Amino acid sequence: MSQPDENQLTRPWVDWTARQIHDPVWRLRYLQSVAPAPLKASRWKSRKTIGLLTLLALGLVAAPLSLRRLGAANAAPPVLPELPAASALPPIHLVEPAVSPSTDVWSVEKASDFEVYSNGLRIENQYAVRHRPRAYVAFSMAGAEGRGGEKRTDPAGIVYHTTESLQAPFESSQNNRLKQVGESLIDYVRRRRCYNFLIDRFGRVFRIVNESDAADHAGHSVWADDRYFYVNLNDSFIGISFEAQTGAGEAATSAGNAQVRAAGMLTEMLRSRYKIPGRNCVTHAQVSVNPANMQIGYHVDWASSFPFERLGLPDNYATPSPAISLFGFAFDASFEQRAGVRLAAGASAADRGLVERAEAAHLSLAAYRKALHRRYLKILASQRG
Ligand SMILES: [Zn+2]
Repeated sequence: MSQPDENQLTRPWVDWTARQIHDPVWRLRYLQSVAPAPLKASRWKSRKTIGLLTLLALGLVAAPLSLRRLGAANAAPPVLPELPAASALPPIHLVEPAVSPSTDVWSVEKASDFEVYSNGLRIENQYAVRHRPRAYVAFSMAGAEGRGGEKRTDPAGIVYHTTESLQAPFESSQNNRLKQVGESLIDYVRRRRCYNFLIDRFGRVFRIVNESDAADHAGHSVWADDRYFYVNLNDSFIGISFEAQTGAGEAATSAGNAQVRAAGMLTEMLRSRYKIPGRNCVTHAQVSVNPANMQIGYHVDWASSFPFERLGLPDNYATPSPAISLFGFAFDASFEQRAGVRLAAGASAADRGLVERAEAAHLSLAAYRKALHRRYLKILASQRG
């Protein structure tokens, strides 16, 4: 497969590709990146617009406002409850599947543009790029307020995504179109450092951003295992994206069999190499949060249709949402419709735990949530610092 030449891009092709990108900020970035030279003249102005849009989308502008609002509403704040200890959180009922997470997978062959592993995995390396070196803090669940964190450079987990790009019919007559669409997508995601890996429609695994570096895949996000919690997972979790599209609330897996098989082998290799626990292999919909309105489910890719079992992983949808349990994030009435029943079940379980802990702390649910919100914003601020 040859890399598409930017100069050969015709306008209809650019427009078609842009229409596939549902996120307005990413679409704007894409259009700017392929704009002919005259359009780039007002670069400063465009950059400011994109910057503001991005900040708004990521909640960075709203976060300090929220801090001030919370502060103003709490002239005499209630005694801040301790960060719930792991033992106080809703129990996590996860049954590790028969597939051992420690299955040893080793490198069999490594050439300049591909790698082969002992479990059948092949990784294409011709598009691999560098980004910023991976570095993050794993916050200890035992240390309230984010104290007692560990600085790390190895990934602690995996976040699965779908590209949400339009799909050509998966038929032999569409072969050329399927390949063209895939190449265009690879070109787009590598220039934006969107993921560490992309799995195309044929199940080919492309390394995009090297695992030693962070990819910009998860934005504002929260996850926790039984010992640590993680805030903003770009640096702490590897991003794997399927070239696929899922409908709101969909329960059936939208990825093809070849993609699921490849994802299983890739997951097995990464878990073996970095000792990643099964409960830290989660979907973007499970971890995505919006600090501007303190709601979960900002992104809902792989909301209820991820085939955990076929990848040898526990059903992580059953895990109560750590964003709700730890930081009091909420969800609105549209959430179940957007996210589907499996993800909504984990959110509801976490919400019930929150109600119980508020009662135990003799606080109203609203006051308890506010205290947890303040804690989240404080940790976010310390992380930026
Ligand atoms: Zn995603």
